[in-house]
Amino acid sequence: MEPLKINEIASAVKGKLIQNQIRSDENEIVITGVSTDSRNISVGDLFIPLTGENFDGHDFIQQAYEKGAKACFSEKNDFLPPEGKFLIQVENTKQALMDLAEYYRSLFSVPVVAITGSVGKTSTKDMIASVLSQHYKVLKTQGNYNNEIGVPLTIFQLNKEHELAVIEMGMNHFGEIHNLSKIAKPDIAVITNIGVSHIENLGSQEGILQAKSEIFDYLNKDGLAVLNGDDAFLRTLKEKIPIEIVYFGLETTNQAYAKNIRFLGIDGTEADFVLNEQEVHVQIPSPGKHMVYNALSAAVIGLKLDLSLEEIQKGIFTYQASKMRMDILKTKKNLWIINDVYNASPQSMKAALDVLNEISKGKRKIAILGDMLEMGFYSEQAHKEVGEYAVQSNIDYLLCVGTEAKHIAQGAIHAGMDKNRVMTFWDQDTLWDTLEHFVESEDTILVKASRGMHLENTVEKLKEVE
Ligand code: ATP
Ligand code: MG
Repeated sequence: MEPLKINEIASAVKGKLIQNQIRSDENEIVITGVSTDSRNISVGDLFIPLTGENFDGHDFIQQAYEKGAKACFSEKNDFLPPEGKFLIQVENTKQALMDLAEYYRSLFSVPVVAITGSVGKTSTKDMIASVLSQHYKVLKTQGNYNNEIGVPLTIFQLNKEHELAVIEMGMNHFGEIHNLSKIAKPDIAVITNIGVSHIENLGSQEGILQAKSEIFDYLNKDGLAVLNGDDAFLRTLKEKIPIEIVYFGLETTNQAYAKNIRFLGIDGTEADFVLNEQEVHVQIPSPGKHMVYNALSAAVIGLKLDLSLEEIQKGIFTYQASKMRMDILKTKKNLWIINDVYNASPQSMKAALDVLNEISKGKRKIAILGDMLEMGFYSEQAHKEVGEYAVQSNIDYLLCVGTEAKHIAQGAIHAGMDKNRVMTFWDQDTLWDTLEHFVESEDTILVKASRGMHLENTVEKLKEVE
């Protein structure tokens, strides 16, 4: 972070600056970092206490000062800061965090690429950053810091050296992407797809489209929207938004599309990308058709930002996936495991089943699938669809864990899968009792569920089988 004056901060968040002695040099006092976690305070930081369901950050203000915080935001005014330190009283600390990030963003003229969508945001963000960093000094969202707290904290990482920022934006309610777009003021907006994640809160896929489209609320008028053109919902935006759009996808009607796709199993995928009359051969080091989409969006943005075709190729080739997203590993017993336990939705389940199919090389294909959470009224249908897809993908054995996942099993049996090849388990312990004796050397095993199911425990156990 570049230093910010304390006065500047107070006025950006419309806060009241409080100190316990009248000082004349407050114009000179600067903040050199922002933290919402009192355990990670560095000297000179601003501590922003947030209130959650189970905690109140205000309880840690004293500790933050002791660790070296120069100033704290606070919704309360019942205490004075220690001598030489500051308190900025605000109405709502989370809003103040967002307002300050918006102000901080306005101090930089770097282009911002913002990514939203139902599935594949982090993978796409990492791919775009991999491509753009062949040419520019790029700031990117770390991990999954994609919400109203994560995006501001990402923005504060901007410094004078950066030439570009690639920012992931997630949401589970209306209004959130609007707020994130207001903070980040994107120049390029990417929407990966419109699925059914968080449909519980958003009512329908039309609702999800509307919520994701809030990214355009603050998109630079001369900017660019990079949209998945194979997605029927995103296609409808063509006439609706007054912004230049480039559609990407596998269909040749898109301005950017992929042809001659060759799936190389664990080695990933090769393809030729057709981009505005130009063609480039790419090697995507992570398997799955979904990665072709993610790489296409990165290629479009690379060209827009003046990268050479060689730089685009290299950026795609050197992509590294974030943790627990389609991590492929080989165990002591020679089991191939696709560890995709980071999250789950019908779309990403299908993408993962495709990968299981691609990399199994004629050996036994086993899918261990757990509950997809937050599906609301759509849950039963969503799980059944995944079961049907497993049958289409010729999975040999389907092991379903959890109360919702039993509908995956039902969907598969309904679609014609042999009952003896479908098993259901209430929890991981019962799954494990069976699994331990069931796996054989050279099996390829996909493990996937929503994060809350903690199927990483199953992955850990599989690693240990001898
Ligand atoms: P979150 O909402 O948790 O931030 P996300 O949108 O960032 O999720 P990723 O973490 O990139 O999504 O990917 C989650 C999983 O979705 C991956 O492990 C992979 O299985 C799958 N996936 C990635 N990209 C795509 C895509 N373009 N289409 C479908 N599935 C995808
Ligand atoms: Mg993510």
